[in-house]
Amino acid sequence: MALRKLETNNGRDVPHPSSQNMASVITHGIVAATVTAVWPSPGRVRGLYLVAGAVSILPDADVIGFFFGIPYQSIFGHRGITHSLLFAVLIGVLTAAVLKAGAKDRVRPVSMSLFLAIVTASHGLLDALTNGGLGVAFFGPFDPTRYFFPWTPIQVSPIGIEAFFSSWGAAVLISEALWVWIPCAAVLAVTRRLGRSDNG
Ligand SMILES: [Zn+2]
Repeated sequence: MALRKLETNNGRDVPHPSSQNMASVITHGIVAATVTAVWPSPGRVRGLYLVAGAVSILPDADVIGFFFGIPYQSIFGHRGITHSLLFAVLIGVLTAAVLKAGAKDRVRPVSMSLFLAIVTASHGLLDALTNGGLGVAFFGPFDPTRYFFPWTPIQVSPIGIEAFFSSWGAAVLISEALWVWIPCAAVLAVTRRLGRSDNG
């Protein structure tokens, strides 16, 4: 898929950290739950939905950098290295190893690693569909360039509870419902239907 290189942030200044930028936590969780529901047997692990939800929001742990003065546009800034594909793979493999250690023969390590890597990567992919902030450093740390998809229909979400419960928050949820929740529900419905017809 074509990615748009974003060097100047559409001519705008780098936004202030207090108005920072992500798809909302709920929506990352919905994508994680959808992938969990459709992924073919990574293993029988109790709380797999919770694990998937956790890795799907983990990349935004980078907002802590704002408190330490790390600039947004730094590779260690928001949407930097923790939003990269390499980070997703590392989190997938490490988390699968921990689950395997705890659940032994009930975890298929390759399938589990791939599943968790994709759930983690889904975070950056969603962020790259939002219409604000800086793009995502998919190829960090090797390439610090920030990317958006050519099509960015998702209203960017504010960071912070107060801003979220505002008209901005409502606009975010409406756009996420339209562009993420409904497609996820459709994927689930189709998968369920196919599963039923497979079973007779
Ligand atoms: Zn993010």
